[in-house]
Amino acid sequence: MSSKDIKSKINGGYPLHTFEDIKDIYSLYIEDKKSRDLIEKAYNYALKKHEGVYRNTGEEYIHHPLEVAYILAKLHVGPITISSGFLHDVVEDTDTSIETIAKEFGKEVASLVDALTKIQRLKLSHDQGKINFTAEDHKKIFLGMSKDIRVIIVKLADRLHNMRTAEGLSTERIERLSQETLEVFVPIAHRLGLYTIQSELEDLSLKYLRPEIYHHIEEMLNKKMKYRKKSLDSLMKRIADMLFEKHIPFEITSRVKSIYSIYKKLYLKGHTFDEIYDVLAIRIITDTELRCYEIIGLIHAIYKPIPGRFKDYIAVPKANMYQSLHSSIISGAGDFFEVQVRTKEMNEIAETGVAAHWKYKEGSKSSRKKEQKEIESKLHWFRDFVAMSADNSDDAKNYMDNLRHDIFESSVYVLTPLGKVIDLPSGATPIDFAYKIHTKVGDSAVGAIVNNIMVPLNTVLKSGDVCEIKTSTNSSGPNEGWLKIAKTTSALSHIRKALLKKTASLLKEEKIIKGKETLRESFKEIGFSDDEMISHISNKNILEKFECQNVDDLYIKVHNRAVGPKQIIDFLGLKSKQGYEIKLDKIHDTNDSSPVIVGNETKIATTLGNCCSPIPGDDIVGYITKGKGVTIHRIDCPNITRDRKRLIEASWREDLPTKNYPVDIEIKATDRSNLLTDIMGVISQHNVPISAISAHLHNETQTTTFTATIHVSDSKRLHDIFNVILNVRGVYEVDRIIH
Ligand code: MN
Repeated sequence: MSSKDIKSKINGGYPLHTFEDIKDIYSLYIEDKKSRDLIEKAYNYALKKHEGVYRNTGEEYIHHPLEVAYILAKLHVGPITISSGFLHDVVEDTDTSIETIAKEFGKEVASLVDALTKIQRLKLSHDQGKINFTAEDHKKIFLGMSKDIRVIIVKLADRLHNMRTAEGLSTERIERLSQETLEVFVPIAHRLGLYTIQSELEDLSLKYLRPEIYHHIEEMLNKKMKYRKKSLDSLMKRIADMLFEKHIPFEITSRVKSIYSIYKKLYLKGHTFDEIYDVLAIRIITDTELRCYEIIGLIHAIYKPIPGRFKDYIAVPKANMYQSLHSSIISGAGDFFEVQVRTKEMNEIAETGVAAHWKYKEGSKSSRKKEQKEIESKLHWFRDFVAMSADNSDDAKNYMDNLRHDIFESSVYVLTPLGKVIDLPSGATPIDFAYKIHTKVGDSAVGAIVNNIMVPLNTVLKSGDVCEIKTSTNSSGPNEGWLKIAKTTSALSHIRKALLKKTASLLKEEKIIKGKETLRESFKEIGFSDDEMISHISNKNILEKFECQNVDDLYIKVHNRAVGPKQIIDFLGLKSKQGYEIKLDKIHDTNDSSPVIVGNETKIATTLGNCCSPIPGDDIVGYITKGKGVTIHRIDCPNITRDRKRLIEASWREDLPTKNYPVDIEIKATDRSNLLTDIMGVISQHNVPISAISAHLHNETQTTTFTATIHVSDSKRLHDIFNVILNVRGVYEVDRIIH
């Protein structure tokens, strides 16, 4: 049909369908009167609402919802979905509200129409303003679609009809529509296995974007068909004869590779036309799986198969549920043909994917939730898709990249020992595999057995590998190295979470040790030994008084400064065993080992307080301890206020050699991915060593507190690095810690 012919533009040159045509189709599988009435009501409602409006291609507007509903009915979807197809533009284009739809057609139809309207609105705002679709826009479309698989199916039918009839639009809009179709709708149709829709969308996009290439391929195909027709016919006849002889039920057809898939082979993969073995294929449909293998065996006995071209997608289905046997053979005339053998069910799935699996079954009691669950378990990627879409923290660009990488481009199919297929992106390892099975399997993985051989966790998996994960309850769990091995976003985020949890529990151990140390110092000051301290505090009264389960809890409370050592000592009624005497130890051997001048003395042994870690530049004060000389604290350290008598003036020496001092800091930030990496990054970029870092997640507030020990020469430098850290996105507070 020529595009110059104005009449051919009506409905893009496609035949127009009437409501009766649609009714003929759905009446075959929907018998319930209520359901049929709902569809009819939806049609009449749309008819009335869109009355008097015409499309760019010249026909009345109602033909758009009619064609969308026709495409849907062909997929054998249920009454709710067909009705939504009729009503999908009513809220957006007429004065109808979503509440009215809910009242007239029920909540389910309304929620589908609402989701479709939102996607449409987004596109409109884009059409009027921005030139390019941003990642943010695409993310919103996917978010809208991830809620209900039926939204995707209606949206795909809508897009397909709009693409068929795009000729009425401006060149610029056609291009944008085609580009978006290839970027957003084709990948999702592919992953849902809606092959018929996918390939029509691809061919139309190519036709609009690169008409010369499209027509060139079309021409080559026609030539090839003409030339091969005879050889194809005789091949089909011979196979049919043979199958008939053997009493094998079959149906045999031929199929031509789609223009877009030829385009991909020619232009994106650099093949020549003659190198494409599967331009022409013979498809044999039979009744059982076993027959499929029998048929392919019989064919291989007559025609020579091309080595390396046999593919068993029955044993290893594709991620979109596609199943079939493929083989390329050389015909008697020396031509290459692809042979595809599958059952009737497999063929339906090959053509309409998820829709075939989810075909409307009258009277089936399965609920929406159950259906969505079933889909998610059959199409395991869909579960990842929903999870990824639900996690709103990622920015749009990341989301789209992850979607593309983890979901649309996954290409390795690995089997569990029980034969379940797990799809992974190329380069994925047993760690990715383990996390796809279950977070717990990932977290406790210790090794992997691939095809019966024990392999290291960084082994790259290939399609068809059978992988078994060895787990252990004694596993130390994920480590930093796993971040380099894992390829999928979901595994990476689980590993990061596990690592943070681990540091948080390490933190607990540390707190016990530090709290104990603090308490021990206070007991020592009043002349009590470790053992004496432990026997004093291990008493039930004291644990009860401070609301602790055990002594470790008490240490933690001391460390957190929820309970002071003095409170404990007072509660126990302990008195100092001896009066303390102030005796300062002089340094005799070297001149410069103390950085601090105490009183006017430069040669007094000093220790820097562990609690407040003073550094040059800080205002400081000395605290005279029993037996340990003078401890230097920051002037505002709460640990020194107890006993004013023991304080002594102190200041930093002015001729200090440059040296780094440890400082404990605390960073508070709102959660996001790569937060810790970014913080560590800027700290080390400024040549500040970090000797410890731990993280504490606060799930309720979606924030994280990091504690770190960094090494700096003085307070000025510390101040500078604080500013650098505060500039990291998400960080809202940085402080020194006083223990
Ligand atoms: Mn529409």
